[in-house]
Amino acid sequence: MRHRIAVIGGGPAGLTFARVLHRHDHPVTVLERDPARDARPPGGTLDLHEELGQLALGKAGLLAEFQALSRPEGQAMRILDTDGTVLRDWQPRPDDRANPEIDRGTLRDLLLGPLDVRWGRGVTEVVPGTRDGVLVRFADGRQATFDLVVGADGAWSRVRPAVSPATPHYTGITMVETSLDDVDTRHPDLARLIGDGSMAVFGVNRNLVAQRNSGGHVKVHAQFRAPLDWHTNLDRHMGLNQRAGLDLADVEAVRSSLLALFDGWAAPVLDLLRHGTAFVHRPLYVLPVSHTWAHVPGVTLLGDAAHLMPPLGVGANLAMLEGAELAESVTAAPGPGDLDEAVRAFEQQMWARAGRWAKITMAGLERLVSPDPTEALALFDEVQPS
Ligand SMILES: Cc1cc2nc3c(=O)[nH]c(=O)nc-3n(C[C@H](O)[C@H](O)[C@H](O)COP(=O)(O)OP(=O)(O)OC[C@H]3O[C@@H](n4cnc5c(N)ncnc54)[C@H](O)[C@@H]3O)c2cc1C
Repeated sequence: MRHRIAVIGGGPAGLTFARVLHRHDHPVTVLERDPARDARPPGGTLDLHEELGQLALGKAGLLAEFQALSRPEGQAMRILDTDGTVLRDWQPRPDDRANPEIDRGTLRDLLLGPLDVRWGRGVTEVVPGTRDGVLVRFADGRQATFDLVVGADGAWSRVRPAVSPATPHYTGITMVETSLDDVDTRHPDLARLIGDGSMAVFGVNRNLVAQRNSGGHVKVHAQFRAPLDWHTNLDRHMGLNQRAGLDLADVEAVRSSLLALFDGWAAPVLDLLRHGTAFVHRPLYVLPVSHTWAHVPGVTLLGDAAHLMPPLGVGANLAMLEGAELAESVTAAPGPGDLDEAVRAFEQQMWARAGRWAKITMAGLERLVSPDPTEALALFDEVQPS
C-alpha cells in the first residue's frame, strides 16, 4: 500500500527524508516555501559526522558522492587568544573522514537530485483528523490532504502547533554573521590566519569564529551575551558609549558597534569584522530541552521543528539521520495501522537521541560564550584531544 505522504520543508531534514523514500520507490510530496532552489543564499558550511549525517547519506545511497564533494581538510581548527597568540592548532590526519565539511548549497543539490520539489508552497496550518486524512493549508489559499504530514519546516515550524504548544525561546546569546569573499586573493593574511578550516577566539562572554567555505568564501560569526533588544540601547545593554539605537540594516553602524564590542582584540582578528560585507543578526533561540509531545496520528516533526538547539555542529546531522530513519520506517509499514506504529516508534527514538544532544549543546553554548574564556578551551580539549 502506498501511503500519501507530504513533507513540509526542503532543508536537510525534509530532503533526506524524501530522498530515502525515493530510493525505496515510495512517492512523497515535498512542499517548500521558498519560491525556487536559489531564492536565497544557502548559508554556510556544515560538518557531517560519520555516525549521524554521513550515516543518513549512506541510507540515501549518497555517501560516495558526499565524500567526493566534501572538504576533510575543513576539519582543521585553530584557537587564538584575544591578543592573537595561537593556543591550539589542530590538523586532521590526511585520511580523517570523521567530520568533513560541505557547503550547504552543495549538500542541498546533492539531496535534491531527482526529487520533484513543489516550490513556493508556504504552509500556514496543518489540521489532523479530518475525514480524508491530515489537511494542509497553504498561504495561497490552496489545501490538500495526506495520510502522513511530516513537519521539517525548521525553527518557526507551522506544522508544530498541530502536535505541540512549544515555541522557541531566546538563549541570551546573539550571533551576528558576516562574510568575506575571495579571501585567498583579496585578504591573504586573513586566509593564513584562518587556515584550511575554522579559527576561533574566545573572550569574556563573547567569541569570534571564522570558518572557511569552498571557493575562498569565509563566514564569520560574532557571538555575545546580550538581551534580545541589545541594539536598541548600546550604552545600557552593552556598556558601549553610544546611546542611540543601532540600525541593524546599516552595515557600517553594525561594523563599528561590533568593533567597539571586541575592542582591544588583536588587529588581525578584528580585520575579520573590518572586511566583512553584510551583517546578519541571528539571536539564538532553542526549544525546551527534551521537547516531546503526545503522539498525534498522521503528523510528526523532524529536525529543528522538533528540537531546535544551539548551533554546535549537530542540528543538521540529527535532522538528516531522523529523515532517513523515518523514511525507512515508513517504507517498512504496509498498512495504515502499521504506519502509525512506525511513526510512534520513530518519535521515541528521535526524542531520546535529540534530548541527549540538546543537553550537550546547551551546556556547550554556555562554555563557548562564558565569563571564563578558559572554559571554551577546556571544551575543545575534551572533544578534540591530542
Ligand atoms: C550559524 C549556524 C551554523 C550551523 N552549523 C551547523 C553544523 O556545522 N552542523 C550541523 O549539523 N548543524 C549546524 N547548524 C544547525 C543546522 O543549520 C540546522 O539544525 C538544520 O538546518 C536543521 O535542518 P531542518 O531541515 O530541520 O531545518 P531548516 O534547515 O531550517 O529547513 C527548513 C526548511 O523549511 C522551509 N520552510 C519553513 N517554513 C515553511 C513553511 N511554512 N512552509 C513550507 N516550507 C517552510 C524553509 O524554507 C527551509 O527550507 C548550524 C546553524 C547555524 C545557525
